[in-house]
Amino acid sequence: MNPTYGAEAEAYRDKVQAFLAEKLPSDWAGIGRLEGDELQEFVERWRTVLFESGYLAPGWPVEYGGGGLSPLEQVIIAEEFARAGVPTGTANDVFGIEMLGNTLLVWGTEEQKSYYLPRILSGEDRWCQGYSEPNAGSDLGSLALQATLDGDQWVLNGQKIWTSAGHLATHIFTLARTDPEAPKHKGISFLLVDMHQSGIEVRPIRMISGESEFNEVFYTDATCPKDHVVGGINNGWAVAMSLLGFERGEAAATLSIRYRGELDRLLQLAAERGLDRDPLIRQRLAWCHAKVEIMRYLGMRTLTQFLAGHHPGPDGAITKLNWSEYHRVVTELAVDILGPDALTPSGRHPSTAFQTDDPGAPNSSASWVDTFLHARAGTIYAGSSQIQRNIIGEMVLGLPKEPRPG
Ligand SMILES: Cc1cc2nc3c(=O)[nH]c(=O)nc-3n(C[C@H](O)[C@H](O)[C@H](O)COP(=O)(O)OP(=O)(O)OC[C@H]3O[C@@H](n4cnc5c(N)ncnc54)[C@H](O)[C@@H]3O)c2cc1C
Repeated sequence: MNPTYGAEAEAYRDKVQAFLAEKLPSDWAGIGRLEGDELQEFVERWRTVLFESGYLAPGWPVEYGGGGLSPLEQVIIAEEFARAGVPTGTANDVFGIEMLGNTLLVWGTEEQKSYYLPRILSGEDRWCQGYSEPNAGSDLGSLALQATLDGDQWVLNGQKIWTSAGHLATHIFTLARTDPEAPKHKGISFLLVDMHQSGIEVRPIRMISGESEFNEVFYTDATCPKDHVVGGINNGWAVAMSLLGFERGEAAATLSIRYRGELDRLLQLAAERGLDRDPLIRQRLAWCHAKVEIMRYLGMRTLTQFLAGHHPGPDGAITKLNWSEYHRVVTELAVDILGPDALTPSGRHPSTAFQTDDPGAPNSSASWVDTFLHARAGTIYAGSSQIQRNIIGEMVLGLPKEPRPG
């Protein structure tokens, strides 16, 4: 089986490739070749190029600054960008563009859309996600951050945690309890909060790798205007769930490209160390190959549904479970191949704690060891593996629901 796209898609692919050839340096080999200031400068500069070309939010309507492109064109862009190893934005863009922007397009008022969407794209507003709390992660409906109406504004008190890129953000979309008397999923609202105020304090959390990509966010009489509610007061649960659909369903087109690139790099590492002839290592590498192929076919299945106009449903849990569990195994294999060198990691470190190291990254021990450490988090964020299994069991397979505490 070798599924291919039609002639129309291939013509568009030529166009995207021509754009990349024109805009990227002639010796470009992927963002992983850059480090430090050079890396940060490139990411910002490239974001501007994407913004000016309509490729930053290819699927958004043109009236809000998007590219107005068809689902097929969006897929081709995602694939070609992943193959070229270029970023699709900054750390906050996944929250601003993919999650909040897409959610506002569905739930936002005309005023919210025309105010926020262009500001997200211009980079003036940089967003982060305020869902999880110390006592509300998998059981998000237990969240306790209080928002009380006082005249024309909400007053917020409480705490969020694990807020990725919160230290780089100007705004946070926040789930807050606006009716403490209502049943737990019914008294929640989805609020848009400016972080540049004295009532908001961001404290970084140190990760297992030593980096600090996520944070605690404390609200002490923080405020936001009354009309900064998305989807209506006490209707936040429905809005929050549709946003998670955008979080979990993304990247069907690009996951297998990134993970294939990473596995090819591991094969190279095994060969450099003469371990590609070791029968046990070969067996584990072959298992990884099979998993990445499964990822590719799962991606095609999701893409077929996407192109037919369906939003990702509960079976997005299969994709999430597959890549995150695979990633723990493949990075453990990398550490075994490195042997004692894994104890003294050196060379370039990954620039992000999410998923694979950057495309084009050198085969340094620091790259693999940090990615190994970060892979632990992949089975937790965007819904833990146990929660994905519950979703698959209950909502995809139709098995009886697990008993809930009464
Ligand atoms: C790197 C990283 C980045 C993150 N970024 C963000 C962010 O930007 N914004 C944000 O809001 N949150 C973020 N999170 C938080 C993430 O969404 C939560 O960590 C996740 O939902 C799990 O919640 P928890 O940590 O409270 O664990 P818990 O829910 O307390 O779970 C603890 C353990 O119990 C298991 N468990 C819980 N319930 C069940 C059940 N019903 N059945 C079976 N097993 C169960 C879980 O699988 C887990 O193993 C991030 C997390 C990480 C690791």
